[in-house]
Amino acid sequence: MTRAMPGVRQTPVSPPVNLTSREHRSESTVVQVGPASFGGRRVTVIAGPCSVENRAQTLETALAVKAVGAGMIRGGAFKPRTSPYSFQGLEEEGLCYLAEVREATGLPIVTEAMDYRQVELVEKYADMIQIGARNMQNYTLLRDVGRLRRPVLLKRGPGATVQELLLAAEYILAEGNTQVLLCERGIRGFDTATRYTLDLSAVPLLKQLTHLPVIVDPSHATGNWTLVGPMARAALAAGADGLIIEVHPQPDRALSDGAQQLTPDHFAGLMDELRLVAAAVGRAL
Ligand code: PEP
Ligand code: MN
Repeated sequence: MTRAMPGVRQTPVSPPVNLTSREHRSESTVVQVGPASFGGRRVTVIAGPCSVENRAQTLETALAVKAVGAGMIRGGAFKPRTSPYSFQGLEEEGLCYLAEVREATGLPIVTEAMDYRQVELVEKYADMIQIGARNMQNYTLLRDVGRLRRPVLLKRGPGATVQELLLAAEYILAEGNTQVLLCERGIRGFDTATRYTLDLSAVPLLKQLTHLPVIVDPSHATGNWTLVGPMARAALAAGADGLIIEVHPQPDRALSDGAQQLTPDHFAGLMDELRLVAAAVGRAL
């Protein structure tokens, strides 16, 4: 037992509550988004375009990925672009197309919100709200989505440590929202050969440290469609609870992230491979 020095008053220090930790909750949290789930035996693949560009492109992609077993649809309506002159997304019009896609496919939708005004809008249309990598440490936004009762997909910032990711999730849980899905999407290393560096060891490490489910985004991590399949397979083998993969009917004509988007045909082939990998590690897709 430590003792205070004479003349120094000892104040009791209570350990911080870490709602995200396995010590706090040993049982794995299952994040349920309509019929899709993350964190149980089943792994779920979220697929769809980087950006919602128009109704036809969004619907065509969604129907194609659903036909081969995707469990959720993605698509950005508010896009966090590096340049202010790049396509910024269709905003509410894009959310309407996503809502139509949900009607047509029966699959839940995830899309990004970058500030509270967007959260209010996205909440009306989407089943899960994405907090993108660039906003992982936007603490007021984390508190905002923490007050919702809507699942949150929290992406790791490219310069964030595993501990910082867990503390970002802690902000959401501290407000009462326990439905948080973590996503490893590559961190910034020294090598520019890939867009980011996929930190695959973060997957089993996070599974040790937290009860929250963990998914991997091989599209943004690699920035190169030819590497998406191998890293998606590796992610499932490493214990990921799901994947988020960008798919576009014509990647070379995409308004964002063309180099990393799979065609529907390539995605279909990958899903066949992923079923084998999932089975090999005792999971089902
Ligand atoms: C996205 O998923 O649309 C996206 C922009 O990803 P990230 O925040 O990981 O860059
Ligand atoms: Mn993208």
